[in-house]
Amino acid sequence: MKYRTILMFGAPGSGKGTHGRALGVIPGFFHCACGDVFRSLRPEMPLGKVFLEYSSRGQLVPDESTIELWRQCLENSMQAGRFHPDTDTLVLDGIPRNVAQAEMLSNTLNIIAVFNLTSSNPENLVQRMQRRALKENRLDDAKLDVIRHRLKTYEQETKPVLNFYGKKLVRNINTDGPPVKIFSEILKHVVKL
Ligand code: ADP
Repeated sequence: MKYRTILMFGAPGSGKGTHGRALGVIPGFFHCACGDVFRSLRPEMPLGKVFLEYSSRGQLVPDESTIELWRQCLENSMQAGRFHPDTDTLVLDGIPRNVAQAEMLSNTLNIIAVFNLTSSNPENLVQRMQRRALKENRLDDAKLDVIRHRLKTYEQETKPVLNFYGKKLVRNINTDGPPVKIFSEILKHVVKL
């Protein structure tokens, strides 16, 4: 059985987490953010170390470890009764993050929509990340050169995932306005799914 899935997609700082979390509190939706799963690892664990090594350089964690960790996390959520795949829609954020991961997950996910969060001004993204660095104690958001590298990684490795899923599934959402307006735009699409 494939999981019915909505993908929150966009550059770092575009608001995938904010809107994904908001959707996830509505009954019938389950939010899962790959970055949160990585941050929940203790730094002394082997994969925790690998995560810190890659994320502090603005790079993606290798695919095999990422997919395995993600599968484990989802399995745990099902066993704990938080995620009910037969009735819930999975709201994924931060995975798949390149075409190889999308291919690895093609037998697991039934993607019904991709919300592509865009911004006409990349400086907005940089500012959001810098604010988040202080608020959420995120090492990968603290340095400007790491932020720039993450935006480059997004352009080169992550953006091609949009073509992988194709135009029919993609809903473009401009994120330059207030969060509540952006979320209402997303909801307008979600009720039609
Ligand atoms: P953002 O808010 O920038 O989208 P995330 O919290 O989703 O950040 O991810 C933080 C870091 O965790 C990424 O820069 C990357 O190093 C690692 N990471 C998260 N998801 C993945 C993934 N699917 N594949 C590889 N690395 C990932």
